[in-house]
Amino acid sequence: MELKTDVLILGGGITGLALAERLKGSGLRTLILEKAGETGGLSRTAKAGNFLFDLGGHRLYFSKPAVREWTEKLLKGRAILRPERNSAVFTGGRLLKYPPTFLNGLLYAAPVLFSKGRRAETRQPPATLKGWLETRLGPRVHDRYFRDYTKKVWGLGTDELSPLWAERRIGGGFSVKSLLLELFGGRLSSKENAGRFLYPERGIGELPAALRESAGPSAELLAGAEPLEIKFKDGRPRSLTFRQGGERAAVNFKFLASTIPLRSLLGLIPGAPAGLGGGLRYRSLVILFAALRRKKPLPQHWVYFPDADAGFSRVCELANWSPLMAPGGWLPLTFEFFCDEGDALWNLPEEKLTALTFDSPAFKKLFGYFEAGATAVERLPHAYPLLYAGSEGPLAAAKKELAAFPNLLLCGRTGAHAYLDTEECLLDAWSAADKIKIQILKGE
Ligand SMILES: Cc1cc2nc3c(=O)[nH]c(=O)nc-3n(C[C@H](O)[C@H](O)[C@H](O)COP(=O)(O)OP(=O)(O)OC[C@H]3O[C@@H](n4cnc5c(N)ncnc54)[C@H](O)[C@@H]3O)c2cc1C
Repeated sequence: MELKTDVLILGGGITGLALAERLKGSGLRTLILEKAGETGGLSRTAKAGNFLFDLGGHRLYFSKPAVREWTEKLLKGRAILRPERNSAVFTGGRLLKYPPTFLNGLLYAAPVLFSKGRRAETRQPPATLKGWLETRLGPRVHDRYFRDYTKKVWGLGTDELSPLWAERRIGGGFSVKSLLLELFGGRLSSKENAGRFLYPERGIGELPAALRESAGPSAELLAGAEPLEIKFKDGRPRSLTFRQGGERAAVNFKFLASTIPLRSLLGLIPGAPAGLGGGLRYRSLVILFAALRRKKPLPQHWVYFPDADAGFSRVCELANWSPLMAPGGWLPLTFEFFCDEGDALWNLPEEKLTALTFDSPAFKKLFGYFEAGATAVERLPHAYPLLYAGSEGPLAAAKKELAAFPNLLLCGRTGAHAYLDTEECLLDAWSAADKIKIQILKGE
């Protein structure tokens, strides 16, 4: 079988779907090729029997009103909740509200206040996350809030991670002053700490579903299709072979937009320099879903667990995300475990992961007596691009190699190997759509 399209989109996550949606009406045919059996990628809502759960809590928050309004319009007709964020940190055996209130802000703020004048003085831009944090916040804040949790989440110390991560997620303007303003003045230094968020009643999977619907029939979807090799003509990528349901097929295209892991894309290019993708690393996530009967839910949407006595790093109380997620009197939770694909935690069977979770001191202290119901496990190999110190070189080398092809574009979180949230993925898809339209419609 040989197919033909104008724009071939690799990956049917938020970015791939938003790109197809944005190209609607342009007269260009699009084809989305998705390896998994369904679309949504990281923003999928999974099922365990009658239960629904996201692959880690996903809230919609925006820094640009225009993107929020566009998303609200897209989701019109679906039930949307607008909860006020309630989250906490469980550390040293107690729950501390996060972001801090004025009162418990004093507990958080102590190391910040004492760190005054102890910040490392340097004119060189810091090469590691540790240097970035110590320059802005001082060693005490680094040791108190970032050192151990970073190791747990990323599997690397702050001295092994790139400052790029902090620049993107915390913001280049972050300082002791902005942290204190956030603690006591309610002035947000990052949009992640925003109060109210949007949440579809049936889970975040409603967003990719709405994008797919809105893209309409001009966007074709091939799910369960595994790309095999990109073929070139006149120095440009022009077709892709793939396998679907045991059959091999090919698709010819004018433009290729990739939202799949950059390392996987490089593996599809014959003659790409050996080892080019080797320096691109990912942090993986294992999600354990567990339906429990307990007296009452926690008041929080989610709780962070920085201490080592809990293997998981975050727990979501699903009843507080949507009442539809807690049917029949059950109070389900999801537990997020950071790991590396293929390591001992990644390979742990469901029963062992469940036992590890229920037996942990943090679980016992917080949830006490319970009756266990259904469980399920989801494994995400490419949950986070791992921005280790020194990753800038391999990333730039891979992008430079691919920039030689004018009809190939990398976009989205996984495709561009960048730490993007949903809003940033939508914006990236829109910008990609503009570039593609200009290039194809001008006949370049
Ligand atoms: C635990 C967690 C919590 C998050 N919480 C939030 C939140 O609260 N708010 C927020 O805004 N953002 C959140 N995010 C970020 C958000 O999920 C992502 O920004 C967004 O889903 C990325 O979409 P994407 O399409 O760029 O990538 P992906 O979702 O990774 O999509 C890539 C797609 O490509 C497919 N694919 C992979 N390999 C191949 C291949 N070889 N061939 C074909 N297809 C392939 C995948 O199956 C997938 O469908 C969170 C992310 C995680 C991991």
